[in-house]
Amino acid sequence: MAKRLLIQGGVAVDTDPVDTDPVAAAPADVLIEDGRIAAVRPGLPEPEGAEVVDAHGMLVLPGFVDTHRHTWQAGIRAIGPDIGFPGYLELVLGRLAPAHRPEDVYAGNLAGALECLDAGITTLVDWSHIQFTPDHTAAAVEALRRSGIRAVFGYCHPQGGDPEASAARGRRVYDEHFGTAGGLVTMAIAPLGPEIVSEEEALHEWGPARDLGLPVTVHMGYDADRADRGLDFLERNGLLTPGTSYVHGNHYSDEALKRIADSGGGVSVSPVVEVELGLGYPVTGRVVAAGAPAGFGADTVVSGPGDMFSLMRAAYALERARPNPGFTTRDALLAATLDGARTAGLGDVVGSLGVGKQADLVLLRTDLLGVAPAHDAVGAVVLSADTRSVDTVIVGGRIVKRDGRLLDHVVEDVLGPLAESAARLAAV
Ligand SMILES: [Zn+2]
Repeated sequence: MAKRLLIQGGVAVDTDPVDTDPVAAAPADVLIEDGRIAAVRPGLPEPEGAEVVDAHGMLVLPGFVDTHRHTWQAGIRAIGPDIGFPGYLELVLGRLAPAHRPEDVYAGNLAGALECLDAGITTLVDWSHIQFTPDHTAAAVEALRRSGIRAVFGYCHPQGGDPEASAARGRRVYDEHFGTAGGLVTMAIAPLGPEIVSEEEALHEWGPARDLGLPVTVHMGYDADRADRGLDFLERNGLLTPGTSYVHGNHYSDEALKRIADSGGGVSVSPVVEVELGLGYPVTGRVVAAGAPAGFGADTVVSGPGDMFSLMRAAYALERARPNPGFTTRDALLAATLDGARTAGLGDVVGSLGVGKQADLVLLRTDLLGVAPAHDAVGAVVLSADTRSVDTVIVGGRIVKRDGRLLDHVVEDVLGPLAESAARLAAV
């Protein structure tokens, strides 16, 4: 018999509704069957044998999608506030990253992924440039699987070395960890890209993505001098393809963003970290205007917040600060959900309450000081709610958080090893 879950009595906030509103909110029950959304409408009958979740007083929306996070950095959280980009490169990539052992990566990735689930982020693009050895890779992937989150593991090979051997290693990672594995964790290729490595190396980096049909996530367009050259390189080599997520893109012209939109790509914006590191003004609104999906990413908790509420609010404020603000709370919620899913290459899988989609949901309480009264559901999510509101989280129809508590993990058991790892790393 089908496994059924009925989310009863909440206000459903759909980011891909049938009518013309890009986001619609109305009282509705949500029926989940075998991990997928089966029906969304008011007064659904309670199927026999169904588990019922009482959602009265709650907003029921698609789980948030983080399109860009270096998840391994959870153990070095807040170690470098106010550092700027040169400081980040020196402290984090120069000093702290090489000190990470596989067990540090496991502790960071597990805590980082659970931090996401706890905060209502059900899909995570883990941009993982901590692959010093195959054991580091295994630790990163294993921690994502253990967490229960839906994740795209963005494999980035270590910088330097023979480019052909690096590409071969990417293919091996796919064979060893993903080839026939199935499940919630899939793989993307995370090239350093033509703005960091030589064009010859970049071509090799894209090899496994081409051969294996994997999506690509790449930092680009954040350096004013190299932005256009990088995009030209991709175009010349047939690499401006659908399923590519361009991370940051601060220095892309509107024309460049249009080229990305026309190619079927998306842009991942890290609204807090880009501003704080001095990468340039975040492009969320210009991406939307160009016709491409824009998603949000926490990027690094070394110097930024890790929850989607903070990212939505930062992006919303930055867009409203423009001379002709047309950006709304609905746009912010779309970027945090459906357009984030599109940017991650999962637009057909998650990101809305569409019937047939994977049931990745978050239930937000509104009966809290600072959240009540929720006159406008979307406004409440984007402007009032925070991680205290996250009552229930569902991934693929499985409840991973209920009544404000993670179900499959004891938080102390996760934070203990993280603290040990963090103390060692901070002493490096
Ligand atoms: Zn990044």
